[in-house]
Amino acid sequence: SVKSQGRNGYSLFDPTMEAKSLERILMENELRKAIEHEQFQVYYQPKMDIGSQILTGMEALVRWVHPELGVISPGKFIPIAEESGMIIELGEWILKEACKQNKKWHDQGHLLKVSVNLSARQIFQKDLVEMITSTLEELELSSEWLELEITESIFVKMEEATVVLQQLRGAGIHISIDDFGTGYSSFSYIKRLPVDTIKIDASFIRDIHHNQESQAIVKAIVTIADSLQMNVIAEGIELDDQVEALQQNGCIHGQGYLFSKPLATEDFEHFLSNQ
Ligand code: C2E
Ligand code: MG
Ligand code: MG
Ligand code: MG
Repeated sequence: SVKSQGRNGYSLFDPTMEAKSLERILMENELRKAIEHEQFQVYYQPKMDIGSQILTGMEALVRWVHPELGVISPGKFIPIAEESGMIIELGEWILKEACKQNKKWHDQGHLLKVSVNLSARQIFQKDLVEMITSTLEELELSSEWLELEITESIFVKMEEATVVLQQLRGAGIHISIDDFGTGYSSFSYIKRLPVDTIKIDASFIRDIHHNQESQAIVKAIVTIADSLQMNVIAEGIELDDQVEALQQNGCIHGQGYLFSKPLATEDFEHFLSNQ
């Protein structure tokens, strides 16, 4: 039996396992309540032309504002939302919220593209394309002002993912590959991906100012993106030296704490008015 497997075997009565699953159950319940009560806030991080420091767009990043625990970062609850399937409902809320907000900014004369992160589960959700296009129609926001950030993880189901991305692009929505260089994608099949923009993962930016390999990788990504008529953006820029190294290797777009942290709506509006 499970119980008799001894020290190294899996035991149903392992107290740490029990504690973990209990914590997980509590967390899932809290998350379910949070979705019901809309305890979330969408923050926006500026995307910049790193040379001129002109704002070119913004990434929507969700935060859970828990009544007792305060602000909880997405790294803590998005994986739970994904595993439990709640990401479908939460993701829809985030997308609608971000598009609604962007429509307001458009009405104020700020014509910017909002980028919304999408989980793999959402990409394979049956009515995703219909949900997004009807949201945009309802808001009277043109699809060119929405970008979806997906990760390479969806390409384990290459054919299914490609079909969905082609439908989205057919509707005029932009697609970007987030965290590029960390996942399944490789240079050999990037040309087949129906995407507009490659986001170079922060791990290549962190040491780019003193690491020749990171410089070479960025340069290679920029070169290939150019030849495929894709855009490139660097994430996680914190230092002027990194900006310089990026520029030397042909990368002209970026985001990171150097320019701004993700901002609550009101703070983003201050950022807008200071532009
Ligand atoms: P991501 O999409 O790759 O977002 C970039 C993360 O890096 C964000 O963390 C952002 O706040 C952080 N960041 C930006 N600039 C810098 C910098 O200069 N230095 C450092 N150290 N960090 C920087 P955040 O907001 O905690 O989000 C983490 C991840 O959670 C995101 O990674 C994304 O995978 C996921 N996520 C966030 N919001 C959503 C969402 O609305 N839907 C889904 N499905 N996932 C989301
Ligand atoms: Mg992202
Ligand atoms: Mg990223
Ligand atoms: Mg990430």
